[in-house]
Amino acid sequence: MSRASAKALPEMKPCPFCGGEAAQSMVTFLDIYCVACGARTELSNWNTRPLEDALRAAVPPDLSGEVERLRGLLVRVLDVNKSARLTEVANRLDLLCTDIREALK
Ligand SMILES: [Zn+2]
Repeated sequence: MSRASAKALPEMKPCPFCGGEAAQSMVTFLDIYCVACGARTELSNWNTRPLEDALRAAVPPDLSGEVERLRGLLVRVLDVNKSARLTEVANRLDLLCTDIREALK
């Protein structure tokens, strides 16, 4: 292990796609990945999100809870994709679509 890889990581933002926890690749030590969905990028890019930061700053405080609720729906979509049985996937997607329609009303 090089001295550079032994340095403490800066605080990592949660995954931009699902909110999952970030972890450092133990293979390259240069990549960061999401332990929940597997999204991956270089260490130098993980916390660099100018569009996301600008959008979060523009969201009125009374809607910030809505952002987290929609993020939870996205996590459910990712969980559906992990299911092996097609009929179960179809049923869960149908329920999820109903929840999304309700959320967007
Ligand atoms: Zn993720």
